[in-house]
Amino acid sequence: MKKIIQIPLPYWNERPKKCAIKAIVLHCSAHEGIPMVKLLNKLRLSAHFVIGTDGRIFQLVPEEKRAFHAGVSSWREMVNLNHYSIGIELSSPSMGEKVYSDEQLASLVSLCRALIRRYNIPAENIAAHSDVAPTRKPDPGKAFPWQRFAACGVGLWYDLNDADKIKENDVEKLLKIIGYNTDNLPAASYAFCRHFVPELIQEQGNISDIITNVYPANFVLPSEYLPHLKACAYKFSKRY
Ligand SMILES: [Zn+2]
Repeated sequence: MKKIIQIPLPYWNERPKKCAIKAIVLHCSAHEGIPMVKLLNKLRLSAHFVIGTDGRIFQLVPEEKRAFHAGVSSWREMVNLNHYSIGIELSSPSMGEKVYSDEQLASLVSLCRALIRRYNIPAENIAAHSDVAPTRKPDPGKAFPWQRFAACGVGLWYDLNDADKIKENDVEKLLKIIGYNTDNLPAASYAFCRHFVPELIQEQGNISDIITNVYPANFVLPSEYLPHLKACAYKFSKRY
């Protein structure tokens, strides 16, 4: 792995007792590595790591401390992901609409593999900010290559052949099995698509649109994609 460049920020606190590290939350921001660190500093926010488009890795907060990156969030049994997770910000000038660079992805894979080994992080707990905060956040965006990552041992992907192995057909229940908070079903459904069926995500092009229009208000998963959701829920259900 590339040498990690330390730029400590003071925006962290202690993880609550009994909140072991057991998740990774991936983010993106339109700023390059060092300008992103400066922006986080100005906003009094943080992440454990920032990875630039050139693959350079910056560490801002010690892993054992609680960084301020996920905000109001939940995933599976976890509420407030900052308590449990390592937060990684990726520089992405397109806010995750255009492909991530190979150098950046290679750095991210090696960093995630090291974290997974060190903390025994289960594959189902490697999530997007959009997964854990579906009403508020679009990052790391439709271009993030989750399928390729799963093939590298980082996160989970599904096999469409598994769709018939799960009897449940209710979209909300299936999303819950994967880990989504479904209080806002259009937002949770769209977040599922961002991660697992990115071809259904509209290209927005304009960064402020991406950030402000996180999901279409009345979004419903097209019925022809129910098998994708079922296959995915099957994969995640095996992990309980
Ligand atoms: Zn984020």
